[in-house]
Amino acid sequence: MIPSVTNKSAYYARTSSDEQREKQTIQSQIAALEAEIQKNGETVVSRYNDDGFSGAMLDRPGLDKLRADLERKVFTKLYIHSPDRLARDLMLQLLVVKELRKHGIEVVFLSHKFGSSPGDQLLFQMLGAISEFERAQILERTRRGKLHKARSGVLVASIPKFGYKYIPKTDTTPGRYEINPEEAQIVEEVFRLFNTPYVKGTRTLSKELYKLGIKSPSGNLTWAKSTLAKLLKDSTYIGVTYFNKHMACEPINPRIVGRRRRKNSSLRLRPKEEWIPIKVPAVISPNLFEETQRKLARNSEMSDRNRKYEYLVKGLLFCSCSKKMYGYPCHGEPRYKCSDKYSRYPLPKICTNGTVPAEKLDSAVWAAFLYVLERPQVLTDRANKIHASRRARKEGLQTKIQDITKGLHSIDEQEKRLVKAYSAEVINLSQLKSELADLSAKKDALSHEERKLEAESVVVAPALQPNDVERYFRSMKERMLSASFEMKQEIIRLFAHQIIFNRGQMLIRAYLPNPIPDELPAAHSAHKEGHVSTTPQSSRHCGRNRDFSFEIKLDLNRPGEVFLEDEMLEGENISLAA
Ligand SMILES: [Zn+2]
Repeated sequence: MIPSVTNKSAYYARTSSDEQREKQTIQSQIAALEAEIQKNGETVVSRYNDDGFSGAMLDRPGLDKLRADLERKVFTKLYIHSPDRLARDLMLQLLVVKELRKHGIEVVFLSHKFGSSPGDQLLFQMLGAISEFERAQILERTRRGKLHKARSGVLVASIPKFGYKYIPKTDTTPGRYEINPEEAQIVEEVFRLFNTPYVKGTRTLSKELYKLGIKSPSGNLTWAKSTLAKLLKDSTYIGVTYFNKHMACEPINPRIVGRRRRKNSSLRLRPKEEWIPIKVPAVISPNLFEETQRKLARNSEMSDRNRKYEYLVKGLLFCSCSKKMYGYPCHGEPRYKCSDKYSRYPLPKICTNGTVPAEKLDSAVWAAFLYVLERPQVLTDRANKIHASRRARKEGLQTKIQDITKGLHSIDEQEKRLVKAYSAEVINLSQLKSELADLSAKKDALSHEERKLEAESVVVAPALQPNDVERYFRSMKERMLSASFEMKQEIIRLFAHQIIFNRGQMLIRAYLPNPIPDELPAAHSAHKEGHVSTTPQSSRHCGRNRDFSFEIKLDLNRPGEVFLEDEMLEGENISLAA
């Protein structure tokens, strides 16, 4: 153990008369205590002994002297053989240990290292429980005291509300609020401005206050919306302030992960019956306050949080930066926003694509689908053109492959001839070797080309049948005429698999099943299951690779202009205008 220079050590030893009879001398205890203190490099400043005294009472000369010395701070550390040397029963032990601790004495028990015997454990659990109980008692006493003061109409909080100053209590008068004329004028102005027709809500009110150069309670020109909302709802300004309005509780969404100074750092409103009203001087008239509450209630009814908007293309919408876009309400307006900022947090966002009003985007997408369904011919024409071009390309590739096969065959012939020429001794070995090497290189090149062309020669899907597409679109259109929100969403999801947004420019990537199913896919399962078809023949070929994919382009700033464009004609960039 590290020797302590600051510890002034003492010990207490006791034997009862029974123990004396059993020849358990106090000397053995003293020896052990002295040895321990010496071992710890400390010096004994005081010794307290009670030889032959019962532990049933605290009335012992040695202990009395010890307790008297506590006040005089004779020692800082006390060694005792075991807790039962202090007293026989737990309650008396507690009493003494508590008293020692109160004086800041470090207590060391020798024979029983702490926690080893059940009796010691109990003693220390009791000590812990008692101090906890005392803390709670103090808190309860002060809380009850405050409640009592508040119930008798006395102001409890000494931090004044904005608009007031706190006049501390004197011997004759309790503490109270008085109006702070400068601040009260600002409060009045805030209420007055809020009730003018051109101020819509706390946001415009904050702007107005900024324009007028009216400073907030924190001395800034910018007023937080939350500060204004709180102020406008505060009944203190019509002369009634409340005590016991909130209770402390654990925050639902703790801001800081990790340590917190207090467990219950959040405030929750108590039931109104528990509030204790205290009269204070009024700053504004009850009429103005009532008017304010009505306006606040109206605003809250129309506020973004209370307004439900269903986002039509949620889950399908992507930002041009490749992140998903999600719907969120912003100042009462539903918008779509790129998730870049959140996915990168706490790093700064990179995406500068901005947000877009959801209603504008949704209705443009819906209009685009209506437009497409009006034009089955456009899609079938495109599909058939692709089909024709693919077939032509395939035919071209096959001709090339045939040419290569011919070339490979002629190389084989040449090789045979060279070997013949060598055996007839027309050419020598080195000539044969070099000629064969040339031919082998040519052969490799041709084989490589052949493999490449074969890979390119993809399977050509059967062409879309215009009648089928028309029938499919017609039945779809019937649904669309009276489409509910869910139906609209379902129809969009049936075709579109991705919608990309880039500063007002939109690209919708969509599919058309090929062949067209005889019936519309069953509701809800349509998107998840892919294209459900009833004919056994088509169900064999219903993979996405056989689907006809197409793109719809639109510009949010030029509504009505929709471009249908397919992505399969590589290199060609033909757009089909309306
Ligand atoms: Zn983005």
